[in-house]
Amino acid sequence: MSIITKYVTLKNYIPTGLPKETDFEIKSREISVNEENNILVSNSWISVDPYMRARMTERKNYKPPFKIGEEMEGYAIGKVETSNDKNFNVGDLVFSNLGMRDNFVCNSNQLKKLKPIDIPIQTYLGPLGMTGHTAYIGLLKHGELKTGQTVLVSSAGGSVGSTVCQIAKNLGCKVIASTGSDEKVGWLKKELKVDHAFNYKKIKNLVLYFKEICPEGFDLYFDNVGGDFLESTIFQMKNYGRIVICGRISQMNVTTPGSGLKNMAYVLVKRLTIKGFLIFDHENEKEPFETDMLKWLSEGKIKFKETIYQGIENAPKSFIDLLEGKNIGKMLVKI
Ligand code: NDP
Repeated sequence: MSIITKYVTLKNYIPTGLPKETDFEIKSREISVNEENNILVSNSWISVDPYMRARMTERKNYKPPFKIGEEMEGYAIGKVETSNDKNFNVGDLVFSNLGMRDNFVCNSNQLKKLKPIDIPIQTYLGPLGMTGHTAYIGLLKHGELKTGQTVLVSSAGGSVGSTVCQIAKNLGCKVIASTGSDEKVGWLKKELKVDHAFNYKKIKNLVLYFKEICPEGFDLYFDNVGGDFLESTIFQMKNYGRIVICGRISQMNVTTPGSGLKNMAYVLVKRLTIKGFLIFDHENEKEPFETDMLKWLSEGKIKFKETIYQGIENAPKSFIDLLEGKNIGKMLVKI
């Protein structure tokens, strides 16, 4: 039996600037189950993630560039439709990294069977998945956050950031959240109960603003954005404070490279630790994350929002809109 698959491809590399819809093309082709690829999966949910931007240039990075004209990889959740593998049954829910396509054939090495949960299955792409794991490992392992400390979180209305805010609140910390819209500020304050949230686009001088809202200083800054925002936080860190570099989304689409941190002297004087990490190095550290996260989700101690675009045709737009901050919580495509 053969079937048509529809998938997103990159038409050309995008060295700088915000991607445009014309940089992508939706293609289709015929696929069929065969001896090597003996499982057919139909995707239900596709994850849309900022790291994909780095794969749209030819520059060397921690993942290779996407291949022009071929299926773009990425995390997805789907259902087994046909299986000639004894370990997978029709109807099984599966996780893959085969990404932006509506259905595909593969073998069992490329799939992970998902345990049924009594919350929406796409949570495996959000708080129970890569972004939740990033928040957990970044905050607790690399950030070494302790009860009662003060933590600043940027891109706090997004998937990683909103989870960071809530884990820190669950630990009894004071949380200050930065985000790019008043709607996200409202969600962070009213539902996620952060101690203070603000729209960074409305702040003229971040250095003075941090002094005003947090005179005691930050123990930890969870950095999702980099650039000038990162530089401004350094002035308000406590002595021996920690900065965890998780992402640098403010720099992803710039057309001219920034000049770097101009206040490194404060890193010395305040004896700060600045530490980067990649979640891909922590694949074998899913525990105690999964146990803690499932517990927090079931107790309502981690809440989440999703921004959902319908259909594979809208996947390029969803990605561009993610980079422009149009998501609240996790950006997803529903197939
Ligand atoms: P988000 O859900 O946070 O979405 C991206 C957000 O970035 C947008 O919604 C927007 O929110 C914000 N943004 C866009 N441009 C700018 C800008 N110029 N300045 C400040 N904020 C901007 O994405 P994720 O939760 O998936 O990822 C968050 C960060 O974590 C990213 O930097 C990502 O690369 C990083 N990451 C790192 C991992 C690692 O292993 N180290 C793993 C996973 C993610 P706003 O409205 O606030 O502007």
